[in-house]
Amino acid sequence: MPSSAEQLHLERALHLLQQAGAMLPEAEPGSVAWLQGIVDALCDLSSRDALTGLSNRRSFEMVMAREVDRVARTGESALLLMLDIDHFKSVNDTYGHGVGDLVIQAVGAALNQAVRPMDTVARIGGEEFGIMLPNCQAGFALTVAERVRERVARLRIPTGQFQDELSVTISLGGAFAPQWVRSSPLLWMERADRQLYRAKTDGRNRVCLEVHHETLVSAEEKGMLLAVLPQDSEQV
Ligand code: GH3
Ligand code: MG
Ligand code: MG
Repeated sequence: MPSSAEQLHLERALHLLQQAGAMLPEAEPGSVAWLQGIVDALCDLSSRDALTGLSNRRSFEMVMAREVDRVARTGESALLLMLDIDHFKSVNDTYGHGVGDLVIQAVGAALNQAVRPMDTVARIGGEEFGIMLPNCQAGFALTVAERVRERVARLRIPTGQFQDELSVTISLGGAFAPQWVRSSPLLWMERADRQLYRAKTDGRNRVCLEVHHETLVSAEEKGMLLAVLPQDSEQV
Protein backbone atom coordinates (compact mmCIF):
# COMPACT_ATOMS: atom_id res chain seq x y z
CA MET A 1 0.00 0.00 0.00
CA PRO A 2 1.57 3.33 -1.01
CA SER A 3 2.24 5.88 1.70
CA SER A 4 0.24 9.12 1.74
CA ALA A 5 3.26 11.00 0.35
CA GLU A 6 3.37 8.69 -2.68
CA GLN A 7 -0.39 9.03 -3.22
CA LEU A 8 -0.01 12.80 -3.08
CA HIS A 9 2.67 12.73 -5.79
CA LEU A 10 0.54 10.58 -8.03
CA GLU A 11 -2.35 13.00 -7.70
CA ARG A 12 -0.06 15.87 -8.56
CA ALA A 13 1.23 13.97 -11.55
CA LEU A 14 -2.33 13.33 -12.74
CA HIS A 15 -3.20 16.98 -12.22
CA LEU A 16 -0.15 18.02 -14.24
CA LEU A 17 -1.11 15.71 -17.10
CA GLN A 18 -4.72 16.90 -17.08
CA GLN A 19 -3.60 20.54 -17.12
CA ALA A 20 -1.39 19.83 -20.11
CA GLY A 21 -4.29 18.12 -21.90
CA ALA A 22 -2.35 14.84 -22.04
CA MET A 23 -4.15 11.56 -22.77
CA LEU A 24 -4.51 9.53 -19.58
CA PRO A 25 -3.95 5.77 -19.78
CA GLU A 26 -7.05 3.68 -20.41
CA ALA A 27 -5.90 0.75 -18.22
CA GLU A 28 -7.57 0.11 -14.88
CA PRO A 29 -6.52 2.82 -12.39
CA GLY A 30 -3.92 1.48 -9.95
CA SER A 31 -2.85 -1.38 -12.25
CA VAL A 32 0.78 -1.74 -13.36
CA ALA A 33 -0.20 -0.89 -16.94
CA TRP A 34 -1.92 2.26 -15.72
CA LEU A 35 1.12 3.34 -13.67
CA GLN A 36 3.38 2.65 -16.65
CA GLY A 37 1.04 4.78 -18.77
CA ILE A 38 1.29 7.65 -16.26
CA VAL A 39 5.11 7.43 -16.23
CA ASP A 40 5.21 7.36 -20.06
CA ALA A 41 2.90 10.39 -20.25
CA LEU A 42 5.07 12.29 -17.74
CA CYS A 43 8.22 11.47 -19.72
CA ASP A 44 6.55 12.73 -22.88
CA LEU A 45 5.41 15.91 -21.12
CA SER A 46 8.87 16.64 -19.71
CA SER A 47 10.45 16.35 -23.15
CA ARG A 48 8.08 18.82 -24.84
CA ASP A 49 7.94 22.59 -25.07
CA ALA A 50 4.62 23.76 -23.61
CA LEU A 51 3.90 26.49 -26.20
CA THR A 52 4.57 24.56 -29.42
CA GLY A 53 4.41 20.88 -28.41
CA LEU A 54 7.82 20.43 -30.08
CA SER A 55 10.80 18.83 -28.34
CA ASN A 56 12.34 21.10 -25.72
CA ARG A 57 16.01 21.95 -25.44
CA ARG A 58 16.78 19.21 -22.93
CA SER A 59 15.30 16.46 -25.06
CA PHE A 60 16.88 17.94 -28.22
CA GLU A 61 20.31 17.75 -26.61
CA MET A 62 19.66 14.08 -25.85
CA VAL A 63 18.71 13.45 -29.50
CA MET A 64 21.87 15.27 -30.58
CA ALA A 65 24.06 13.28 -28.22
CA ARG A 66 22.71 10.03 -29.69
CA GLU A 67 23.31 11.36 -33.20
CA VAL A 68 26.88 12.46 -32.39
CA ASP A 69 27.52 8.92 -31.22
CA ARG A 70 25.95 7.35 -34.31
CA VAL A 71 27.85 9.60 -36.75
CA ALA A 72 31.13 8.87 -34.95
CA ARG A 73 30.52 5.12 -35.29
CA THR A 74 29.01 4.94 -38.78
CA GLY A 75 30.50 7.97 -40.56
CA GLU A 76 27.01 8.90 -41.82
CA SER A 77 26.26 12.54 -42.40
CA ALA A 78 23.97 14.46 -40.03
CA LEU A 79 22.97 18.09 -40.28
CA LEU A 80 21.99 20.44 -37.48
CA LEU A 81 20.04 23.57 -38.39
CA MET A 82 19.68 26.38 -35.87
CA LEU A 83 17.20 29.09 -36.77
CA ASP A 84 15.78 32.27 -35.35
CA ILE A 85 12.82 34.44 -36.37
CA ASP A 86 13.95 37.74 -37.89
CA HIS A 87 13.03 41.02 -36.19
CA PHE A 88 10.72 39.23 -33.81
CA LYS A 89 10.87 42.02 -31.23
CA SER A 90 8.92 44.24 -33.61
CA VAL A 91 6.12 41.59 -33.80
CA ASN A 92 5.79 41.69 -30.01
CA ASP A 93 6.05 45.48 -29.96
CA THR A 94 3.46 46.01 -32.71
CA TYR A 95 0.91 43.30 -31.93
CA GLY A 96 1.63 42.24 -28.35
CA HIS A 97 3.08 39.18 -26.70
CA GLY A 98 -0.06 37.06 -27.37
CA VAL A 99 0.26 37.45 -31.12
CA GLY A 100 4.01 36.86 -30.74
CA ASP A 101 3.17 33.51 -29.15
CA LEU A 102 0.83 32.67 -32.06
CA VAL A 103 3.67 33.39 -34.47
CA ILE A 104 6.03 31.10 -32.54
CA GLN A 105 3.39 28.33 -32.67
CA ALA A 106 2.75 28.82 -36.40
CA VAL A 107 6.47 28.78 -37.20
CA GLY A 108 6.94 25.64 -35.08
CA ALA A 109 4.13 23.85 -36.94
CA ALA A 110 5.51 24.95 -40.33
CA LEU A 111 8.97 23.66 -39.46
CA ASN A 112 7.53 20.29 -38.51
CA GLN A 113 5.69 20.09 -41.83
CA ALA A 114 8.82 20.97 -43.81
CA VAL A 115 10.95 18.04 -42.67
CA ARG A 116 10.88 14.23 -42.66
CA PRO A 117 9.29 12.24 -39.81
CA MET A 118 12.76 10.98 -38.82
CA ASP A 119 13.96 14.57 -38.23
CA THR A 120 13.57 16.29 -34.85
CA VAL A 121 12.30 19.85 -34.55
CA ALA A 122 12.78 21.58 -31.19
CA ARG A 123 12.13 24.94 -29.64
CA ILE A 124 15.45 25.84 -28.08
CA GLY A 125 14.14 28.96 -26.36
CA GLY A 126 12.33 32.22 -27.18
CA GLU A 127 11.92 32.34 -30.96
CA GLU A 128 14.86 30.08 -31.66
CA PHE A 129 14.49 26.54 -33.00
CA GLY A 130 16.74 23.62 -33.84
CA ILE A 131 16.28 20.88 -36.43
CA MET A 132 18.27 17.68 -36.30
CA LEU A 133 18.43 15.86 -39.64
CA PRO A 134 20.05 12.44 -39.44
CA ASN A 135 21.36 10.89 -42.61
CA CYS A 136 21.42 14.18 -44.52
CA GLN A 137 24.11 14.31 -47.20
CA ALA A 138 26.04 17.54 -47.61
CA GLY A 139 24.77 17.81 -51.19
CA PHE A 140 21.15 18.05 -50.02
CA ALA A 141 21.67 20.36 -47.07
CA LEU A 142 21.09 23.64 -48.86
CA THR A 143 17.94 22.36 -50.60
CA VAL A 144 16.50 21.17 -47.29
CA ALA A 145 17.36 24.37 -45.44
CA GLU A 146 15.97 26.53 -48.25
CA ARG A 147 12.75 24.49 -48.24
CA VAL A 148 12.38 25.18 -44.51
CA ARG A 149 13.09 28.89 -45.00
CA GLU A 150 10.58 29.21 -47.84
CA ARG A 151 7.91 27.30 -45.95
CA VAL A 152 8.05 29.81 -43.10
CA ALA A 153 8.19 32.81 -45.46
CA ARG A 154 4.94 31.60 -47.11
CA LEU A 155 3.04 31.60 -43.80
CA ARG A 156 0.21 34.09 -43.40
CA ILE A 157 -0.63 34.28 -39.70
CA PRO A 158 -3.91 35.94 -38.68
CA THR A 159 -3.37 38.48 -35.89
CA GLY A 160 -7.05 39.04 -35.06
CA GLN A 161 -6.41 42.79 -35.25
CA PHE A 162 -7.76 44.88 -38.14
CA GLN A 163 -7.81 41.66 -40.20
CA ASP A 164 -4.05 41.93 -40.44
CA GLU A 165 -2.12 38.88 -41.55
CA LEU A 166 1.47 38.58 -40.51
CA SER A 167 4.35 37.08 -42.37
CA VAL A 168 7.78 36.47 -40.89
CA THR A 169 11.13 35.29 -42.11
CA ILE A 170 13.80 33.17 -40.47
CA SER A 171 17.58 33.00 -40.66
CA LEU A 172 19.21 29.57 -40.57
CA GLY A 173 22.68 28.31 -39.77
CA GLY A 174 23.75 24.75 -40.43
CA ALA A 175 26.64 22.52 -39.38
CA PHE A 176 27.40 18.83 -39.80
CA ALA A 177 28.35 16.43 -37.07
CA PRO A 178 32.02 15.66 -37.65
CA GLN A 179 32.17 12.17 -39.15
CA TRP A 180 34.34 9.59 -37.33
CA VAL A 181 35.00 12.16 -34.60
CA ARG A 182 33.18 12.13 -31.28
CA SER A 183 32.01 15.70 -30.80
CA SER A 184 29.56 17.00 -28.21
CA PRO A 185 26.08 18.47 -28.71
CA LEU A 186 27.34 21.78 -27.33
CA LEU A 187 30.27 22.12 -29.76
CA TRP A 188 28.05 21.09 -32.66
CA MET A 189 25.44 23.66 -31.66
CA GLU A 190 28.12 26.35 -31.36
CA ARG A 191 29.24 25.72 -34.94
CA ALA A 192 25.65 25.92 -36.25
CA ASP A 193 25.11 29.07 -34.16
CA ARG A 194 28.15 30.69 -35.78
CA GLN A 195 26.52 30.11 -39.18
CA LEU A 196 23.22 31.49 -37.89
CA TYR A 197 25.04 34.61 -36.73
CA ARG A 198 26.54 34.90 -40.21
CA ALA A 199 23.06 34.58 -41.79
CA LYS A 200 21.84 37.41 -39.52
CA THR A 201 24.73 39.74 -40.25
CA ASP A 202 24.57 38.98 -44.00
CA GLY A 203 21.03 40.39 -44.09
CA ARG A 204 18.64 37.76 -42.57
CA ASN A 205 16.01 35.61 -44.37
CA ARG A 206 18.82 33.36 -45.59
CA VAL A 207 20.71 30.14 -45.02
CA CYS A 208 24.40 29.87 -44.14
CA LEU A 209 25.99 26.43 -43.99
CA GLU A 210 29.42 25.31 -42.93
CA VAL A 211 31.17 24.50 -46.19
CA HIS A 212 34.14 22.22 -45.73
CA HIS A 213 32.89 20.76 -42.53
CA GLU A 214 35.78 18.30 -42.10
CA THR A 215 38.26 21.15 -41.97
CA LEU A 216 36.21 23.09 -39.44
CA VAL A 217 36.31 20.43 -36.75
CA SER A 218 37.59 22.28 -33.73
CA ALA A 219 40.76 21.38 -31.85
CA GLU A 220 38.58 20.50 -28.89
CA GLU A 221 36.65 17.95 -31.00
CA LYS A 222 39.90 16.45 -32.31
CA GLY A 223 41.06 16.17 -28.71
CA MET A 224 37.90 14.25 -27.87
CA LEU A 225 38.63 11.79 -30.69
CA LEU A 226 42.10 11.06 -29.30
CA ALA A 227 40.71 10.75 -25.78
CA VAL A 228 38.22 8.00 -26.74
CA LEU A 229 40.27 6.00 -29.26
CA PRO A 230 41.40 3.08 -27.03
CA GLN A 231 37.87 2.54 -25.69
CA ASP A 232 36.44 2.75 -29.22
CA SER A 233 38.78 0.16 -30.66
CA GLU A 234 37.73 -2.26 -27.92
CA GLN A 235 34.06 -1.77 -28.78
CA VAL A 236 34.47 -2.51 -32.49
P1 GH3 B 1 16.93 39.26 -34.97
O1 GH3 B 1 16.47 39.37 -36.38
O2 GH3 B 1 18.32 39.76 -34.79
O3 GH3 B 1 16.76 37.89 -34.41
O4 GH3 B 1 16.00 40.28 -34.16
P2 GH3 B 1 14.92 39.95 -33.07
O5 GH3 B 1 14.06 41.16 -32.91
O6 GH3 B 1 14.21 38.69 -33.39
O7 GH3 B 1 15.85 39.80 -31.82
P3 GH3 B 1 15.95 38.66 -30.79
O8 GH3 B 1 16.03 37.35 -31.50
O9 GH3 B 1 17.05 38.98 -29.87
O10 GH3 B 1 14.56 38.85 -30.03
C1 GH3 B 1 13.94 37.87 -29.37
C2 GH3 B 1 12.67 38.42 -28.78
O11 GH3 B 1 11.79 37.35 -28.56
C3 GH3 B 1 12.91 39.06 -27.44
C4 GH3 B 1 11.85 38.48 -26.53
O12 GH3 B 1 11.09 39.49 -25.96
C5 GH3 B 1 10.97 37.67 -27.45
N1 GH3 B 1 10.52 36.42 -26.87
C6 GH3 B 1 11.27 35.47 -26.29
N2 GH3 B 1 10.48 34.43 -25.89
C7 GH3 B 1 9.21 34.74 -26.24
C8 GH3 B 1 7.95 34.06 -26.09
O13 GH3 B 1 7.85 32.95 -25.56
N3 GH3 B 1 6.85 34.69 -26.57
C9 GH3 B 1 6.92 35.92 -27.16
N4 GH3 B 1 5.80 36.47 -27.62
N5 GH3 B 1 8.09 36.59 -27.29
C10 GH3 B 1 9.23 36.01 -26.85
MG1 MG C 1 15.10 36.82 -33.62
MG1 MG D 1 16.45 35.21 -30.81
